[in-house]
Amino acid sequence: MKALEEKILAEGEVLPGGVLKVGSFLNQQIDIDFLMAMGEDIADAFKDDGVTKVLTVEASGIAFAVAAAFYLKVPVTFAKKNKTSNVSSEVYSVPVESFTHGKTYEIMLPKEYIKPDDRILIVDDFLACGNAIKGLCKIVKDAGACVVGAASAVEKGFQGGGDELRRQGMHIHSLAIVESMEDGKIVFRNN
Ligand code: 5GP
Repeated sequence: MKALEEKILAEGEVLPGGVLKVGSFLNQQIDIDFLMAMGEDIADAFKDDGVTKVLTVEASGIAFAVAAAFYLKVPVTFAKKNKTSNVSSEVYSVPVESFTHGKTYEIMLPKEYIKPDDRILIVDDFLACGNAIKGLCKIVKDAGACVVGAASAVEKGFQGGGDELRRQGMHIHSLAIVESMEDGKIVFRNN
């Protein structure tokens, strides 16, 4: 998505440790018109897959997932990173190593939110090593449901997670793929 690449170049900030900050329009503040345009692109890529639900993980994936689900006309459900009192005891849970926080979370989703006949589209804001998407895939598998594919706004191609999942046959759709960010210079794939 050319417009996303341009927005990343204009507003993105490369932080130490290979982290891209896009707080001005996706993570800390949300440009809603832009968010909805990204969601429409994702929905279009999966429009023939019979998606019944969009699945993401809190917190930063939620807004983007909602935009995609709006155009697919399906609900969104999200895994939580911490067990709170309103999470029922019957949960699917899986450990996921967080690239940005440098720690492992137990992500969990109450069993009632995925049924075996669901066709799930996994959506997250970033795809880096692929740990979040792999963890969400495990939850869907444990529920006996089907993953139709996964989408991210920004894939950091140099971390390899997206390509690993593509090699496994998964349909991965990323709106912008950052191939390198060396010395703060952002280079996109296919450019
Ligand atoms: P993965 O599990 O694919 O390694 O990383 C994806 C998750 O880490 C996403 O949920 C996202 O929140 C976070 N993440 C990974 N890399 C970045 C980054 O460069 N910038 C931001 N803002 N989040 C990132």
